Amino acid sequence: MVKCVKCGARLRAEDRFCDICGARQKKEKKCECGFLLEEFFAFCPMCGKSLAKEESRNHKTAKRRKESDNGEKFSAVLESLLGRKK
Ligand SMILES: [Zn+2]
Ligand SMILES: [Zn+2]
Repeated sequence: MVKCVKCGARLRAEDRFCDICGARQKKEKKCECGFLLEEFFAFCPMCGKSLAKEESRNHKTAKRRKESDNGEKFSAVLESLLGRKK
């Protein structure tokens, strides 16, 4: 839950303007690289760092799947290396 920067009314996180007073909700956010980010950015256009917190669970699952794929590939490579040695 976020509050209006002007009147303190409760707003949804995605609201860019206050429903009560109409104030624009400007949330300044800087990336680690120093680039000033817009709130709707999913990733930093400067360094490519992912900014999507809401999707972190999905992202983690996807990453984990990718890691296991890499693990399978690695073990396959290892097996072929071991097989070559023999
Ligand atoms: Zn307001
Ligand atoms: Zn950045």
